[in-house]
Amino acid sequence: MEIKVLQDILSANDAIARKNQSRLNKHGILTINVMSSPGAGKTSLIMQIISQLREKARIAVIEGDVASTIDADKVSKQGVTVVQINTAGGCHLDANMTENALNNLPLDDIDLLLIENVGNLICPAGFALGEHKRVILLSLPEGDDKAYKYPSMFTQADVVLINKIDLLPFLEFDIASFSNAISGLNPEVKIFQVSCKTGQGLEDWLSWLQEQIKEMKSHHGS
Ligand code: MG
Ligand code: ZN
Repeated sequence: MEIKVLQDILSANDAIARKNQSRLNKHGILTINVMSSPGAGKTSLIMQIISQLREKARIAVIEGDVASTIDADKVSKQGVTVVQINTAGGCHLDANMTENALNNLPLDDIDLLLIENVGNLICPAGFALGEHKRVILLSLPEGDDKAYKYPSMFTQADVVLINKIDLLPFLEFDIASFSNAISGLNPEVKIFQVSCKTGQGLEDWLSWLQEQIKEMKSHHGS
């Protein structure tokens, strides 16, 4: 019985997520769901994307947090449109919350929508929002065993960013074994080593992102 309830919740969520995605397609908005544990660097990543791509794409952000507007305030200072979702204790965003956020965004004036999910390496993976791509950040201090401990997050990722690569000299993190574990779970995944703090390694990831924006425009151009 309990399993059936969970399936109903997830299928209702998926239906709204599909609706969100066709709405985003209609407006040609590439939408990225950014997920990680707390402190892995989601907000720093979003700030880097804004500062590097703001001349090239119109960017908007949905900030998901359990409480507070700390991250939304940071993003908003960059002059980018931001909608805050407070989940009031909820540990992930869902498609319904995302739909509400879309209702409050100027969809005709956006090329790239970044969704910062609630910091959590477990259940956000189960809830589609309508995004086109899933980007998972894993930062070096979290350890290189996380692909084995939280596999569902990584099997559904389009991109894994290994963040805080500037800390490599100070930590015992085996990049090769972590990358092999992810590729074993998910052979299609793209892996980039970056530091959102120093900017190291961001170039390749940002050109991948720009490629996706271009592709979205060519399919659904606005
Ligand atoms: Mg954040
Ligand atoms: Zn949750």
